[in-house]
Amino acid sequence: MSKVKLSLEEAHDLALRCLLSNGCDERNAKAAADRMIQAERDICPSHGLFRLPWYASGVKSGRANGKAKPSVEQLAPAVIRVDGDAGFAPIAQEAAHRPLADSARQNGIAAAGIVNMFHIAAMWPEVERLADEGLCGIAVTASYPYVAPAGGIKPLFGTNPMGFAWPRKNAPPLVFDQASSAMARGEIQIAARDGHSVPATAGIGPDGEETTDPNDVLKGAQLGFGGYKGASLALMIELLAGPLIGEFLSIEAAEDDAGKGGPPKGGELIIALDPARFGDAGGFMAHGEKLFQALLEQEGARLPGARRFQNRELTPQNGIEIPASLHQTILGLM
Ligand code: NDP
Repeated sequence: MSKVKLSLEEAHDLALRCLLSNGCDERNAKAAADRMIQAERDICPSHGLFRLPWYASGVKSGRANGKAKPSVEQLAPAVIRVDGDAGFAPIAQEAAHRPLADSARQNGIAAAGIVNMFHIAAMWPEVERLADEGLCGIAVTASYPYVAPAGGIKPLFGTNPMGFAWPRKNAPPLVFDQASSAMARGEIQIAARDGHSVPATAGIGPDGEETTDPNDVLKGAQLGFGGYKGASLALMIELLAGPLIGEFLSIEAAEDDAGKGGPPKGGELIIALDPARFGDAGGFMAHGEKLFQALLEQEGARLPGARRFQNRELTPQNGIEIPASLHQTILGLM
């Protein structure tokens, strides 16, 4: 596959120009471009420029608000609701961050329910940002029905990711961010695009039979990771990012889209905890490090997030590569 090499600045400029020319204002375009290039910087291509055509079509069709002005409401001493004004998640997450972090410092724990927005990104940026400030973060979101419940064959749950971050003193935070499906949707789409197969655990075809063909999985249903255990996590996330905060379930997001193929509208729950307020202010950090050290002493083991942090050191010098076909698609959108 032929590739185009870009510096991070060039990639950011490409995303920004594309979003601006499709109807985003400066603030919204910058927030979304920043988020996509953070993913490219850490070599997480399934949430990088690959998502740009989806963002652009969402705004162009008028479904997503490229000029969103999110509003923040304090519902309880430690509960914040952010209305994303039907824009994309990054601008709403920007609006949520400060009040959420401040409330967690004040109360020990705080939660933000972000509603009325389109979430098509990774979860690690928001939890990592909390951990950069010494807080512990948990974030979940739902999407479209892609994953069958255990034993079923029809898509019901989103690939419903969860992100978690824990602060560290002289090192980047411990961060994991993973789908509750065996594979993220974007990875299956990329496998289909590039003609690769997927593991048989990734999903089933429309007939409910096991398959390694990503096109069959896209027509059939994905599966939760670890069978019913992943499906139960997906179920929990549907409830936390949907009914708890007054937002869509994945099946409702699909009804709302009505087959237009745009990005999913829905919500996100972010929980911030201040470890210094849970009874071991002086010791929690070193105590966590004891666990990380024991983990790293095992040959072959690594901390989740370490791959991204290593890539982050390299891409500012080396740049990134994207498929030439994607580059052409993006240029065609401007
Ligand atoms: P991966 O399976 O690639 O990785 C999941 C996590 O496991 C990462 O934190 C990763 O860290 C860590 N990890 C991977 N290998 C190891 C290892 N050997 N040892 C320790 N830790 C490891 O992610 P997914 O495919 O499940 O999800 C990809 C992205 O897609 C996520 O960012 C997720 O938020 C996003 N997503 C978004 C959705 C949405 O609707 N918005 C839906 C579903 C997924 P590292 O990064 O360092 O490799």
